[in-house]
Amino acid sequence: MKKNIIIIGAGPAGLTAAYELSKTNKYNITILEESNILGGISRTVNHNGNRIDIGGHRFFSKIEKVNNWWNEVLSEDFLIRDRKSRILYERKFYDYPISLNSNTIKNLGLNRFVKIGFSYVKSLIFKKEENTLEDFFINRFGYELYITFFKDYTYKVWGVPCNKIDALFGHQRIKGLSISSVIIHMIKKLFGKVNSKNIETSLIEQFKYPKFGPGQLWEDVARKAIDNGVKILFNESVNYVSNSKTKINSVQTLNNTYKAHYILSSMPIKDLIVSMSNTPEDISSLASNLEYRDFITVGLLVDNLEYHNLKDNWIYIQESDVKIGRLQIFNNWSPFLVKDKDNTWIGLEYFCNENDDLWEMSEKEFINFAISEVVKLDLIKRDKILDSIQIKVKKAYPSYFGSYNNFDTIKNYINTIENLYCIGRNGQHRYNNMDHSMMSSFEAVNCIINNTSKDKLWNINTEKEYHETQK
Ligand SMILES: Cc1cc2nc3c(=O)[nH]c(=O)nc-3n(C[C@H](O)[C@H](O)[C@H](O)COP(=O)(O)OP(=O)(O)OC[C@H]3O[C@@H](n4cnc5c(N)ncnc54)[C@H](O)[C@@H]3O)c2cc1C
Repeated sequence: MKKNIIIIGAGPAGLTAAYELSKTNKYNITILEESNILGGISRTVNHNGNRIDIGGHRFFSKIEKVNNWWNEVLSEDFLIRDRKSRILYERKFYDYPISLNSNTIKNLGLNRFVKIGFSYVKSLIFKKEENTLEDFFINRFGYELYITFFKDYTYKVWGVPCNKIDALFGHQRIKGLSISSVIIHMIKKLFGKVNSKNIETSLIEQFKYPKFGPGQLWEDVARKAIDNGVKILFNESVNYVSNSKTKINSVQTLNNTYKAHYILSSMPIKDLIVSMSNTPEDISSLASNLEYRDFITVGLLVDNLEYHNLKDNWIYIQESDVKIGRLQIFNNWSPFLVKDKDNTWIGLEYFCNENDDLWEMSEKEFINFAISEVVKLDLIKRDKILDSIQIKVKKAYPSYFGSYNNFDTIKNYINTIENLYCIGRNGQHRYNNMDHSMMSSFEAVNCIINNTSKDKLWNINTEKEYHETQK
């Protein structure tokens, strides 16, 4: 008799696992998805014919298996896009990453440029002890560059000042980016020695992108999995897990109970542990103190041909008088995302916390607020706006704050539940891109099919070669 497998979540991790398991034809596989959409954070939302990508998902991976898998699913529907992103600071545009060119010097002014140069040299000679993210930045970029480009933006993204964030965060997320890596990259580029394996992710200049956004790929994966017999049930939010000390027997949603031999969970590990029975108090308390950063994006359709001169995929907004963090120009990700090519379809992105002032605004209030910010920045004229939509994403970023330092304790507890496999970004509480979210699924599938230990499951994206830099 076939064994039952329940997969929680129809995002990249859940869908990858389902499709891979379905190829064996050995299991009854059901995905329980709390929303009515496929693709999780990597979905594409179709709003009146214009497609919005939550954040702008570059398909870029250093892992051959992932690249082959993506190509196999989507083949010719992948576009190869040139990456262009810039920084808007004091109402002037700078290259990202900052480059040493005449535009940078002109924008900064010679005085500030020289000051930045001296403070960088000072940082090379006098290394600070690295306790906080602030020390990490200053050691790599110098104090002046840190104050100019990193301090306020990092606060916008994480809602925590750099001097309150552990330096470990820099090592995990921003590892390879420094002035020297930017200069080495420029020299290698000059001599044509750059390839996708030896490049920092922040510096990549090309990436793959599905014609109709990332959701296109995940919808195709779902179709293939369904063809192989996988059931996907929408509006099924797992809120109770019945388990003994070593095994999960069933999971429950509001109206149904599902018995399973194996559970693969990509739901936030915090919510999973809260839903489990017999969890020791110290584990529950650690799990409830895991933190996240949430995300709101506003899609704006603009009748503004001036935008057609902007070639950026996205622009970092480093201005301290507005709350917006990034602006996406979806036409430049794929022209197929936009219904009428004469219009510009943009995304205004905000980092926030569930229940803070931004999160609590009504949709109408928030859209008005976001529009007033881009009008203030002189990027858009209010009377050119044709359509809008707001999308809120809970737990978009698992944070490395709160009880994260004790995450191993949570992990060890989860490992005692033999038939439970935590996969994906929030499933493992790890700042994974799609590729690493998928790798955790490949590994979980491997453990189930070959009946091997779960040890390797938690090592994805912790080895040196897997680390990537902050976007
Ligand atoms: C702004 C932003 C930009 C990004 N850019 C990139 C990029 O350029 N390239 C890249 O590769 N990656 C990028 N990522 C990361 C990428 O989105 C994630 O790695 C990927 O979506 C994680 O897949 P997942 O399946 O683990 O989780 P998710 O995408 O979060 O999917 C989890 C699914 O589980 C469901 N779920 C949650 N709780 C329950 C429950 N209780 N019961 C049932 N279902 C539940 C959710 O509804 C969701 O569908 C970006 C992320 C963000 C936030």
